[in-house]
Amino acid sequence: MDLDLDLTGRTALVVGGAASARLAVARFVHAGAAVSLAATDPADADVAGCQLVARPKHLAGWRDLVDGIDLVVLVDADADEQRMIRAAAGRRTWIVTETPAPVAPIGTVTLIGGGPGDDGLLTLAGRDALAAADVIYVDRLAPQQRLREFAPGAEIVDVGKTPGHHAIPQREIERLMVASALEGRTVARLKGGDPYVFGRGGEEVAACRAAGVPVTVIPGVTSAIAVPAAAGIPVTYRELSRMFTVVSGHAPLDDAQLAHLAGLGGTIVVLMGVSNLPHLTAGLARFGMAADMPLAIIERGTQLSQRTTVTTVSEATELSARLRVASPAVIVVGEVVRLMHHGDDADRISRDVIALAGE
Ligand code: SAH
Repeated sequence: MDLDLDLTGRTALVVGGAASARLAVARFVHAGAAVSLAATDPADADVAGCQLVARPKHLAGWRDLVDGIDLVVLVDADADEQRMIRAAAGRRTWIVTETPAPVAPIGTVTLIGGGPGDDGLLTLAGRDALAAADVIYVDRLAPQQRLREFAPGAEIVDVGKTPGHHAIPQREIERLMVASALEGRTVARLKGGDPYVFGRGGEEVAACRAAGVPVTVIPGVTSAIAVPAAAGIPVTYRELSRMFTVVSGHAPLDDAQLAHLAGLGGTIVVLMGVSNLPHLTAGLARFGMAADMPLAIIERGTQLSQRTTVTTVSEATELSARLRVASPAVIVVGEVVRLMHHGDDADRISRDVIALAGE
């Protein structure tokens, strides 16, 4: 609460912990009031400009204390105590409630793009930020295998979501991150891929800024490019594909979007697209995409269980149902799928490839 009242000659009693009440005390002193502080922790009270008073245990004591006070300011009195103070103040005294000030210096939040899952694809900056963290809020698709080793002292909180089932709602994750930072902790938020690619990183940054918490973002290797690459598919290739479009398949595309996409001519990369694959392929075909346009689905990219299914726009729905293709998967549509290269490490890392009939 900002105070532009002149309280000169008035008396104010602030009730709260010394640290959490310090901003309230400062505001009322600044407004000219004679401030006394009934601190929960008088030994720690080092609050300028006010008189420290003992905190009564009973209603009668509060009555004596409040007698002659113009304004009572409650900062972190508990519910019982509040009732007692209100009773003591009767009807004559103003009572206001103020939010406690952070008791420690405010911490920071760092959003870390963790890459597509293989911890080798975490950046050095990301790893440094993990090592500095007191608490790490981790997403399901973020690299987790060596997290303990990268952040030996940190509390690790799994806020992972499974598809269709949000383990912890997004707003709650934001609230937790902000609350930890306001307690003075160094917070890391480890996310899959890049925080700003379908990762709700923008919302998390906005939540921190709204709460006055310093926030930084460390970019990550996005699955939109890295997962096709892990399957040996370049998203661009000179003279074959001079653009790539990254699309969220979470909600079905409308006809105008499908028409544009079918007419673009480059590579189409779809994230979160498994459940809407039939709608996508039927729509692309309806708006003129060749039935035999290659389409690859890469499940669990960069993991040892990575599986790539190569098919066509017309056959993708039937084949993916038969193979029980499941999220997380990246779908790639375009001529670049024909360039798929199995990798010279294929003997070391065994990754399944189910190729188009006849190839
Ligand atoms: N911010 C993330 C994307 C979050 S949306 C990024 O930049 O990569 C989640 C979707 O990403 C999944 O549904 C899937 O389509 C894709 N994805 C992420 N990791 C993946 C992986 N290892 N293998 C396949 N798809 C992955």
